[in-house]
Amino acid sequence: MERFLTKSPRETDKLAKILAREIIKFKSKIKSALIFGLVGELGAGKTTFIQAFAKGMGIKKRLTSPTFVLMKKYKNLYHIDCYRIKNPKDILALDFEEIISTPQNIVLIEWAEKIKKILPKNKIWIKFEIISEKERLIKFL
Ligand code: ADP
Ligand code: MG
Repeated sequence: MERFLTKSPRETDKLAKILAREIIKFKSKIKSALIFGLVGELGAGKTTFIQAFAKGMGIKKRLTSPTFVLMKKYKNLYHIDCYRIKNPKDILALDFEEIISTPQNIVLIEWAEKIKKILPKNKIWIKFEIISEKERLIKFL
């Protein structure tokens, strides 16, 4: 398990950008979609992380929080927010199955624990813990 303690939103941005750039290097060699399940309470930094990740991927357009929009798509990058999801089935209406089975896709899901049942096995969990006002413990597992 990798864990990082960030001491500001800027440090979280940096971590997400580094990860995105590393992924760009090997993504074409992977034969399946890359799925990240982001977990952590409100304000833990999930959206901050995803926005910086998208920038690191070279996406110029600013990603707005999809808290009211379930899903946002930027080329092969999908940002899904399950905060308002009551039933995992609700997400299937978004062609979720197809999204997660298209090899070139990168899918980042906030509140992913809510749809655990329908997530594939090969996902990476990113857990965010609030340590103090400006500190976040970010764990990859
Ligand atoms: P979530 O999507 O998990 O609800 P957001 O990314 O929307 O969280 O919000 C995180 C909030 O916490 C932002 O207001 C951000 O400025 C603040 N924050 C403070 N310290 C950090 C940090 N180290 N990493 C990320 N966000 C931080
Ligand atoms: Mg959020």
